[in-house]
Amino acid sequence: MEQTMGERIDGKEIARQIRVRVAQEVQALGLRPGLAAVRVGNDPASEIYVRNKRKACADAGIYSEEHVIPAWSEAQLLGLIIGLNRDPRIHGILVQLPLPEGLNTRRVLDAVAPEKDVDGFHYLNVGKLVAHQPGFVPCTPLGIIALLQAAKIEMAGAHAVVVGRSDIVGKPTALLLLHQNATVTLCHSRTRHLGDLCRQADILVAAIGRPHFVKGEMVKEGAVVIDVGINRLPDGRIVGDVDFEAALPRARAITPVPGGVGPMTIAMLLSNTLQAAKWASQTP
Ligand code: NDP
Repeated sequence: MEQTMGERIDGKEIARQIRVRVAQEVQALGLRPGLAAVRVGNDPASEIYVRNKRKACADAGIYSEEHVIPAWSEAQLLGLIIGLNRDPRIHGILVQLPLPEGLNTRRVLDAVAPEKDVDGFHYLNVGKLVAHQPGFVPCTPLGIIALLQAAKIEMAGAHAVVVGRSDIVGKPTALLLLHQNATVTLCHSRTRHLGDLCRQADILVAAIGRPHFVKGEMVKEGAVVIDVGINRLPDGRIVGDVDFEAALPRARAITPVPGGVGPMTIAMLLSNTLQAAKWASQTP
């Protein structure tokens, strides 16, 4: 572990380096990777997320297209996904979540061909992650591991405490940390003595969705803190799940919000799309 106390882990810069590497590999591939983004309804946040992802694709030389479907039409959505599964220009398909109420999210995600499931949400890819087999891994957890590796944080043997057990962030992050040989404690809203558990963490991952939930006193001196949260305050500011200013002097290293995990998520989406194109090019 090389960090001095209170080092900020610069996710923006680490993500930039990954995006440059992806762009170079895309150039060398001799095939243009393609990503289809599917959006349902007119959620403004989803619209911004998809726009940012498509811009990142363009910067990396990845073809992208966007499909917008009315909120009520699951049959139309499934038909679209089946068509994209067969489209040879498209190597990755992402369905922007959350889906509007009334749609069956699991059925929709499982309609995506597993080999195009660059978000890693299909059951087959979930199973591969559990079994530690090659497959697509959700982008945010993948980005967290890439951040820790880039910051040269030793995971093997460390006690990693993950707060939040969602299928998108907390649970897969816990599995990836386990595969890195960390000793993992996975916490959630029913966890007792949460503060005590957090204080035992060498690596503390907060993926809760509550502004400043993790207080300074919940951080062990010298811990590495990864803040996944993206919370908008009434005054418009975006803050994480960790009280950054209080945690900074105690932590050996900590990710800021914004500029920590967020940029990594998009970088890993590009990386997964490149991987999907590579696998497609190797399939006879
Ligand atoms: P979810 O709402 O799906 O999950 C939140 C988790 O936090 C649940 O497991 C819940 O426990 C747990 N939790 C809630 N309250 C408490 C509590 N008081 N004590 C302990 N645990 C609690 O959120 P997501 O996982 O989707 O997202 C988490 C955060 O990460 C959000 O701020 C989101 O915006 C952000 N995010 C950031 C991304 C990025 O790119 N940086 C990408 C995706 C998400 P239980 O299961 O018991 O209900």
